[in-house]
Amino acid sequence: SKNFPIKKAKPTLFPTNLVKLFSTQKPELTLYEQFEKFFDNAASYTTFPSGLLTSIKKSRTSLLVNFPMEIQTNGKKDYRIIEAYRVQHSHHKLPTKGGVRYSEEINLQRIQALAGLMTFKCACADVPFGGAKGGIKIDPKKFTVKELEKITRRFAIELMKKKYIGPAIDVPAPDYGTGAREMGWILHTAQTYNPTNIHHTATVTGKSVNQGGIAGREQATGLGVYFALREAMKHPEYVKNAGIIGGPEGKSVIVTGFGNTGYWSAKSFVDFGKCKIVGVSEYNGAVYNPDGLDIDKLYEYKKANGTLLGFYGAEDILNPDDVMFKPADILIPASVALQITKENCDKIQARVICEAADAACTYDASFLLEKRGVLVIPDIYANCGGVVISYVEWLKNLSHVKFGRMTEKWEEYNNTRLLNFLEQKFQKTFSPDERETVIHGATEKDLVLSGLEQAMMMSFQDIHEVAKKYKVNLRLAAYIHGISKIASTYLSLGVWP
Ligand code: GLU
Repeated sequence: SKNFPIKKAKPTLFPTNLVKLFSTQKPELTLYEQFEKFFDNAASYTTFPSGLLTSIKKSRTSLLVNFPMEIQTNGKKDYRIIEAYRVQHSHHKLPTKGGVRYSEEINLQRIQALAGLMTFKCACADVPFGGAKGGIKIDPKKFTVKELEKITRRFAIELMKKKYIGPAIDVPAPDYGTGAREMGWILHTAQTYNPTNIHHTATVTGKSVNQGGIAGREQATGLGVYFALREAMKHPEYVKNAGIIGGPEGKSVIVTGFGNTGYWSAKSFVDFGKCKIVGVSEYNGAVYNPDGLDIDKLYEYKKANGTLLGFYGAEDILNPDDVMFKPADILIPASVALQITKENCDKIQARVICEAADAACTYDASFLLEKRGVLVIPDIYANCGGVVISYVEWLKNLSHVKFGRMTEKWEEYNNTRLLNFLEQKFQKTFSPDERETVIHGATEKDLVLSGLEQAMMMSFQDIHEVAKKYKVNLRLAAYIHGISKIASTYLSLGVWP
């Protein structure tokens, strides 16, 4: 059936925003209000001084810059103002860490909320950073590569002028609408203006490997999403209300968003979880095939055609959001924030939702879904794999030693974890004779990704303990866990001066 075209349609932009605009229902909370509510709910389970809790909730420092960019309007020289942000949410650990997104959907409060999520993400993942987030209010699809380079380098200069960037201050990474290319521009700009900093490669993470990046970083968030879901599904108490039996194996999965996180999540669910990806969406259309989609072919198709629509054997879905309502066991929202709302969450048939995108479910939707027994694995745990490997990249840059070389004595590394990872990768069990060979043949990527698996397992264990102790859901547990770690760090630091 793979080669049988079901329905073909021309790509169109569906005006979903118009539908939202004319909706008469009371609007949901803003992203920032939702972050505050999730935080307040969790804080009420703790006994820390209320002023300390407020100070943990608020962003420490925010930067908004407007800079002009020369453009041509009808062949005449003109200027366009570019709006850019960077927020450092928490200074309990330094540097601060978080992505830079290019999107028209941002404002200061949204970036503050996303920076706040980074603080809790880092705490959950047990990486020693405060949270940060940045953004440029543009749709990168509307700019040429040259223009994007100009904007990115100017942004980097603004951050440097304000001392808002550096290996010990704040370390940006890719996010929605950015990738290794943008990180390379930022790094090169920072290096040019500060040539004596020997640690300059640690200024950003998510760089390409030839610029000091680390193998495996690109797929880390997506593979981490898979490990997060696998860990949660190991515990019957989380899946029993969802009516799902067993682990991810053989389950059907819908992924919204086919950027870095969406693509690598889909691939990891197939390669590691033996799942079937039945639906995938992009901003301009979605495809669905109950028999399963070939993820690599779909990726090639998107690259060649600029759309998923028209992919062989799949049903076209013009309004990309509608793919979420198709039959599947698992839904991985991996595109914009606030995609799953109180208005649409009832139509979702999947019984497990793993938030690859930050704030994929609104505050109201999270509660409605829980009421219906749907398991939601929260963003701050589900997608922390990216920052976990960013930490490893940062360490590699500061030590100036290639990761494999540091662990030349394999015995010093956790061989059991590495072996276990390699067995999953090669889908076979190695005999004692084969073990040494396969461990010695492990690449930097294998080491990194086996470390990712270990980190995702350990942080699930931490959240699980809290969930059991307070009898709360995973999101609340993740926040309570984060607040406790951050509050105790502040208490032992003291307030100075
Ligand atoms: N942008 C990613 C996130 O929001 C990665 C952040 C990082 O690696 O610093 O989790």
